[in-house]
Amino acid sequence: MNRVDLHSHSTVSDGSFPPEEVVKMAAGAGLSGLALTDHDNIGGVETALRAGKMNDILVIPGVEISAEFDRGTCHILGYFFDPTDETLRKKLAYLQQARAERNPKIAKKLQDLGIDITYEEVQAIAGSEQVGRPHFARILMNKGIVKDFNEAFERFLGKDKAAYVDKFRYSPEEAFEMIQAAGGVVVLAHPYTLNLSDDELTDLLEKWVALGLQGMEVFYPDHTEEMIERYSRIANAFGLIKTGGSDFHGNNKEGSVLGDCGPRGCPTTAVVEQLRQAGA
Ligand code: AMP
Ligand code: ZN
Ligand code: FE
Ligand code: FE
Repeated sequence: MNRVDLHSHSTVSDGSFPPEEVVKMAAGAGLSGLALTDHDNIGGVETALRAGKMNDILVIPGVEISAEFDRGTCHILGYFFDPTDETLRKKLAYLQQARAERNPKIAKKLQDLGIDITYEEVQAIAGSEQVGRPHFARILMNKGIVKDFNEAFERFLGKDKAAYVDKFRYSPEEAFEMIQAAGGVVVLAHPYTLNLSDDELTDLLEKWVALGLQGMEVFYPDHTEEMIERYSRIANAFGLIKTGGSDFHGNNKEGSVLGDCGPRGCPTTAVVEQLRQAGA
């Protein structure tokens, strides 16, 4: 099939399947390649690489770092870094600690809103060491407090909603630096979440490309064909590699399907080679 999915999550962050399972599912779906891109955590990468060899599918080391950005949500993808890099591990561990400090505060806010919830319940449903907001959303759904993920984020968990708690983030520039220092390639994830006009995005990319940004996630389930065309044009203007992925979270995100990268499909293995060469 020659298609690759360059954006997926496992139980190492807020996906519902363990890394080796996600790899196996990707091979089963006929994909030629998969990047595991857990939030702020590369703890699943080595397991995924091993699973790739066993299931005869190319696995690309990945990570998705949440960065500081006032206007919207800024996620920076890193690929082909050295997963044993100590500095990268240490900087990500700091983010994991910030998250661990935030999470009980979200539980407390929900309790203060009169919701019968304990942080222990959330940890149990996560089934991993790293809890994320989708785990809170699942519990709120299970308890019948909200009907779906969207309502959970709209009413409670989204930015500045009733149970929102901020956490430490590196600047985008710091995120670039930590990926690059580990030999990795920097890609901007789902650009629409930055909430910028095309002109504003272009101005920002001008700066970020100078700092070593090498790709942009053009193929994404939430992108319409019109958005894909627009982002392709912008990516081409900057010589950025056009990546894509499903943002698969298993049961922790509605409608995420491994190998479904939106209306124009997933990128091909040629894009993996572009990324590999960009990192070399
Ligand atoms: P966290 O990293 O714990 O702050 O949680 C962020 C994750 O929550 C994102 O990666 C998405 O998977 C999920 N998320 C954020 N906003 C929404 C939303 N409005 N609807 C559904 N899921 C969301
Ligand atoms: Zn997520
Ligand atoms: Fe993201
Ligand atoms: Fe993601």
